[in-house]
Amino acid sequence: MAAVHRHPEASNLVYLALYALQHRGQESAGIAAGNGSRIRRRVGMGHVADVFTPERLDELSGAHAIGHVRYGTAGVSTLENAQPLRMTHRRGPVALAHNGNLVNALSLRERLVEEGSIFRTSSDTEVILHLVARSRQSTLEDALAEALNQVSGAYSLVVADEARVIAVRDPHGFRPLSLGRLPGGMPVVASESCAFDLIDAVFERDLAPGEMLVLGPGEEERSFFPFAPADPSPCIFEYVYFSRPDSYVFGRPVGEVRRALGIELAREHSVEADLVVPVPDSGVPAAIGFAREAEIPFDFGLVRNHYVGRTFIEPAQSIRHFGVKIKLNPVRSLIAGRRVVLVDDSLVRGTTMNKIVNMVRQAGAKEVHVRISCPPTISPCYYGVDTPSRDELRAASSSVDELRNYIGADSLAYQSLDGMYRAVGTEHGEFCVACYTEDYPVPISDGAELRKRMRLIDESLEDISERSLSREERDG
Ligand code: AMP
Repeated sequence: MAAVHRHPEASNLVYLALYALQHRGQESAGIAAGNGSRIRRRVGMGHVADVFTPERLDELSGAHAIGHVRYGTAGVSTLENAQPLRMTHRRGPVALAHNGNLVNALSLRERLVEEGSIFRTSSDTEVILHLVARSRQSTLEDALAEALNQVSGAYSLVVADEARVIAVRDPHGFRPLSLGRLPGGMPVVASESCAFDLIDAVFERDLAPGEMLVLGPGEEERSFFPFAPADPSPCIFEYVYFSRPDSYVFGRPVGEVRRALGIELAREHSVEADLVVPVPDSGVPAAIGFAREAEIPFDFGLVRNHYVGRTFIEPAQSIRHFGVKIKLNPVRSLIAGRRVVLVDDSLVRGTTMNKIVNMVRQAGAKEVHVRISCPPTISPCYYGVDTPSRDELRAASSSVDELRNYIGADSLAYQSLDGMYRAVGTEHGEFCVACYTEDYPVPISDGAELRKRMRLIDESLEDISERSLSREERDG
């Protein structure tokens, strides 16, 4: 998610920022640009580079723009759900992009539908627009504040009307959002600081949890805090997996935290071995830290194909582990006859690691030890990370030894919660760690029954929409 204000090339810069943020979502991409009297929007399925061409960006002229790459956690992957969403209400046109996931959107939606609202998407984000439209407040920021006071869960937002950009972080600050400056002082907002680097902007600060920053009209910039204060609970998984290692997130350099996770892991769970091999790319920084601390040689024993997209052609006679082989290949000359430590950031369903261990054994490894840089993932995320339901989270129902057996490793060890806190340099309670503890900082108000009803709505949308592949279909 990104926004640029007061710049003649706003949509071009947002395009570049989204390019740097592509890792945060690959389902759809979109930009909405305002020129003082209107807002134009282009959204499409797929990657930023596929959706936008120079001609399409030219159509998005205007001095401010917001953009989004989607990674769906609520609502199917369809064009209708692509963001920024846009609508016109009595205050004029407004476009909105959302990172995070609301935990009471379905109950709000049911109430709104009951009262006559017509929804165009199945995403949780649309609820915010409906609440803004219904608000009696005269300004967009007051209406937005009123709307957001009714929703709960995780939201970092960028919003645009004809003249302004508004950036908001929810009171718990689940998802990141930062402010930067372009040469010339024009403000830019992005989910991660790596987006600033690409457009020569300088990181200024993170938006504070609960902050609403209003940029414009003109050079006006002001912040206010329209929500009741809450305990901050930024998502620790941003450090483990989600953010890019070259970003500063929640005040820390992500790559450094990941290396520290590897160091802590080696302190807790070192093992006699000949070679540390990262699972690329997600396991690389932690593996570097692990190897350094354990004093075991490090090398890229698995090579990743960076051009993996959709594979339409599969051999008729199935090749074993085709899904993972197309992405990763072991380097036999490094692995054969060695005792290998495989380091990855996280283990979710465990299916990927099961295939990797198998591949590494086939390449001649003498022993395979698996080390995971975060604690066992035992509970689903409701705040914007696409973890599967509890029954698919293997660590929720299996012991570490059962899991070791399932993935076929000689040993398996996870980071402890305390080790993770030490690596991040924080005390217990400062971050959301619900995926490891089931301790949810905001209660999930939408029950299972509501979620089931929503899936039916999703299916009806799916009939008429272009759809992109789900993560499982994509990853094989
Ligand atoms: P699996 O255990 O087979 O479900 O997959 C674990 C792998 O998926 C690890 O290599 C992680 O880097 C990666 N991973 C973890 N969480 C996510 C997520 N929310 N979205 C996409 N990939 C993820």
